[in-house]
Amino acid sequence: MSEIDSFHTREIIHCKVYVLYINVRKSISISVGRLGKISFKKGGYLYIGSAKKGIINRLNRHLRKSKKIFWHIDYLLYQDESEISKIWVADNIRECNLAKRIRQFIQVEQIKGFGCSDCRCLSHLLYYDGKKDRLSCLAKKLKLINCYSEYI
Ligand SMILES: [Zn+2]
Repeated sequence: MSEIDSFHTREIIHCKVYVLYINVRKSISISVGRLGKISFKKGGYLYIGSAKKGIINRLNRHLRKSKKIFWHIDYLLYQDESEISKIWVADNIRECNLAKRIRQFIQVEQIKGFGCSDCRCLSHLLYYDGKKDRLSCLAKKLKLINCYSEYI
């Protein structure tokens, strides 16, 4: 997998909140730290995260397969069956609020307890089974900046 390119680095360096669109190629069941075993259906997932500083390092870390497992999302991204196909960032909204806005805009299933140890959300990982072009509308509506794109 590649990294965030220098053009986008300049554009998004001030941002703190991001959304990963993760494609899971086939259904898998994996252990996710204290959450225990979770089954992931084949399809697309939206993960909402934030980096108070160093968003570029954080995103590139997510894009790398080899790393020390730390966050819930690391367990999923470590798998051969998963890959990040898109990344958006936001500079005008907080992480939890963004997760909420996304849930209001598209129909998703929340993966309970995932990525939200530090807040009161039900989840920061959303399974999305709908049309891909709806995601473009969502990004436009929420003024998200696209900074990484693989074919989806
Ligand atoms: Zn939250």
